[in-house]
Amino acid sequence: MRREQQLRCRLRYAALSGLLIATALQPERAVGQDLRIEHVTVVSPERRGELPDTNVTVREGRVVAVVAAAKDASAQQVGVPKLEGRGLYLVPGLIDSHVHLSAIPGMTGEQERAHPDLAQAARDQIPRSYLYFGFTTLIDLISTPEEMARWKSRHPVPDTYFCGGAPLIDGYPMNYSPKPQRYAGMPYMIVEPQSGVPLPPGVDAAAHSPQTVVARMKSDGAICVKTFFERGFGGVHDLPVPKPETIRSLVQAAHAAGLPVLLHANSAEAQTFGLDTGVDILAHGLWNADETAAPGELTPAVRSILDRIVTAQVGWQPTLQVLHGLEDLFNPGFLSDPLLARVLPRSLIDWYGTSEGHWFRDVVAADIPGPDPGASLRRGLSAEIGRAAAATGYLAQHGARLLFGTDTPSAPTYANPPGLNAWLEIHRLIDAGVTPAQIFEAATLRNAHAFKLDHEIGTVEVGKRADLLLVRADPRQTVQAYAEIVTVILGGRALDRDSLAANR
Ligand SMILES: [Zn+2]
Repeated sequence: MRREQQLRCRLRYAALSGLLIATALQPERAVGQDLRIEHVTVVSPERRGELPDTNVTVREGRVVAVVAAAKDASAQQVGVPKLEGRGLYLVPGLIDSHVHLSAIPGMTGEQERAHPDLAQAARDQIPRSYLYFGFTTLIDLISTPEEMARWKSRHPVPDTYFCGGAPLIDGYPMNYSPKPQRYAGMPYMIVEPQSGVPLPPGVDAAAHSPQTVVARMKSDGAICVKTFFERGFGGVHDLPVPKPETIRSLVQAAHAAGLPVLLHANSAEAQTFGLDTGVDILAHGLWNADETAAPGELTPAVRSILDRIVTAQVGWQPTLQVLHGLEDLFNPGFLSDPLLARVLPRSLIDWYGTSEGHWFRDVVAADIPGPDPGASLRRGLSAEIGRAAAATGYLAQHGARLLFGTDTPSAPTYANPPGLNAWLEIHRLIDAGVTPAQIFEAATLRNAHAFKLDHEIGTVEVGKRADLLLVRADPRQTVQAYAEIVTVILGGRALDRDSLAANR
């Protein structure tokens, strides 16, 4: 029991991400980039086979020709940059459909103001770190046009889109922010009619109906709606949750506006609620379910939820690394991992090592009794990790619509670093039984389709934006391909992978 409570304490902080980070745009337009990639093997998720020895031409940031090199009669254009593709694979750029970009991982706003040099170095590097690991498109699930404009002021920056976050007023994750600031921080919160709860001053119920909230998001440029079903954890179990009819109205308004709806849901009750209300995507794995089951056991009750997910073809983001990232807060070797130095400035890594930089780990540790909070946490999380992996493996085996999303960062933690967290998530998926080909599809065409971006990205095809990767291995065969990226192509602009690393 106590273990379960400890567990929930940890997970409470995963909630914070929504808020501290809650404060996401339209993709940066290609600036007329031309490029030719010659004699490359094209691997794209809409094709069964590969296209060997192919020339790909990019004009003004878009793919204009994909032609067998032997049949390529196009005149050699003078001055167009060329990439030699012999021995390499050309694949679509990856899409992470669950990130939070407004805060620097592990830093509060106050700390950022106290350390402006650290913060600037971090903010300059973070977009490059996503690109370094092949992510040319990001979707921030809780953002605003202002936050997105700030994020997009860096160059280069992945193409980035955002959802509006629509929590129920005072529900998760708004509850973690003090009143009255929480109301200003969540412009798309929902107020249910006749709830009987008095409204805070300045909040007009009519401006927070599902219909008005969706209309405002849409005009602000959001491409999706994120809502929440979470009763709380860590001693909190009574947060208000939306009524089914509220979320049905939200889904109806969103669909009329052409926006998919995501639901934060990681319990059996929440995922069932999502299935019952017709949301499009469940934004977490299923780790809070059947707590009496043996580790990794899928009980009939859980199986029946998973079968519904398969049948309804609801999008499903496993986000397995969320749980492992909590453990990594207590991993003494984490900050000295050489991969971390590829994605974050040395100055920031050093700061994480200070007592001030450890603040979030200390908050988590304070809630865990006993002499070794890290060990207690690992014991507490093992059942949830086992359940999350087993559910993911089952869905992968049964043809569910898996979508690649990391929830980076899932809390104000340094242990979900930009880009690297996705590389770690890929390994968690492999360990859970997802195949490299499924991961490739989930991170490209499936994500593009789920967010209605498939006319723009997700495949190597004529007419699409030239967001591409040149890699040394076939990603359908091995995820090692993502460790062996040679060149990241963003809107036709070729970026040498090493040039994107931190601490070069
Ligand atoms: Zn999230």
